[in-house]
Amino acid sequence: MITLNIHDIRKQPGLSMIWEYEDTPDIAEVELADKVSATLKLTNVSSRILVEGSIRTAVKLECARCLADYVCPLEFSFVEEFLPEGSPELVEKEKLDWEDLNLFSFSDDILDIYEMIRQNIITALPVKPLCSEGCKGLCPVCGKSRNTETCSCPVEEDEDEGFSTPGFINSN
Ligand SMILES: [Zn+2]
Ligand SMILES: [Zn+2]
Repeated sequence: MITLNIHDIRKQPGLSMIWEYEDTPDIAEVELADKVSATLKLTNVSSRILVEGSIRTAVKLECARCLADYVCPLEFSFVEEFLPEGSPELVEKEKLDWEDLNLFSFSDDILDIYEMIRQNIITALPVKPLCSEGCKGLCPVCGKSRNTETCSCPVEEDEDEGFSTPGFINSN
């Protein structure tokens, strides 16, 4: 849990506050390589709390081409909403099982932002992690990393997915 008291801005719609967070939370799905630094602007918009945030951190990932571990910096912004527990929208969400819709709840003027931070970090992870743009990957014959070693295996035509055949027309 990462909790935050929003009593002061709950008094009146339009009030907002800035909250700076810096720590290393436990996130099961990813290994953090740096602390998480977040700046959150919380605004009371009548029935809900709007959160405009930005996060900076770094995670340890495995390169999809050469399989080496590397540190991937992450920096991104997001917008989320927190609704008071028991809000019609939250009840509706549960009923319809909208798993992909992010809606967070709070009660007693306390926001728990752990889940919001966790979900946003996971969403920001690269789909295809690469240690560098020019990573040469592994030799398909001997399996050595072409970034660090030069082997004498016969070189085959590189079938990098970055290059497609120009002018190819699908006749289906
Ligand atoms: Zn690599
Ligand atoms: Zn080789």
